[in-house]
Amino acid sequence: MKQKWPFLLASMLFLIGIVGSILLLQRTDTDIIEIVQDGEVRYQLDLQKTENQIVEVEYEGRVNRIEIQDHQIHMLEADCPDHTCVNMGWLDSATPIVCLPNHLVIQFSGKTDEVDGRAG
Ligand SMILES: [Zn+2]
Repeated sequence: MKQKWPFLLASMLFLIGIVGSILLLQRTDTDIIEIVQDGEVRYQLDLQKTENQIVEVEYEGRVNRIEIQDHQIHMLEADCPDHTCVNMGWLDSATPIVCLPNHLVIQFSGKTDEVDGRAG
């Protein structure tokens, strides 16, 4: 009878894993992204509704080219010394794409709770 324990434990971990995945998926069901520069939202886009295009954002003469393709977004080119933002690849829900030299952030909307209080 005691030998049932490892099996029960494994089942429980498995269930917790499933529930955890569902919770994670629910949290990322929004596809609204924000392109934020210097703390101001410059663009707000719904990746599900936005056609493939390239958005250019300039900062002090330096240009970031942000590409939207197949409902995904990434930094295509950037006039910054490090190319960290370009190297970050496609935006995923966990990590915003940040270009520190150009004060640029690409992130999923809804990460910030502060928007609600400002309406009106
Ligand atoms: Zn950069």
